[in-house]
Amino acid sequence: MRKKYYCPSCKAEVEVLEACGASSYFCNNCKKLISSKAILEEDLERKDNL
Ligand SMILES: [Zn+2]
Repeated sequence: MRKKYYCPSCKAEVEVLEACGASSYFCNNCKKLISSKAILEEDLERKDNL
């Protein structure tokens, strides 16, 4: 099962774009690309709920 990724700015789920073996992330809410270093993974969202 795939992980989900979230925008660090607006916390919306981002679209994963895979090209040439590298993944990019695009936030449809902010209309911008998010770097893989800045992206929030599903695991981090669980922390927010505590
Ligand atoms: Zn965003």
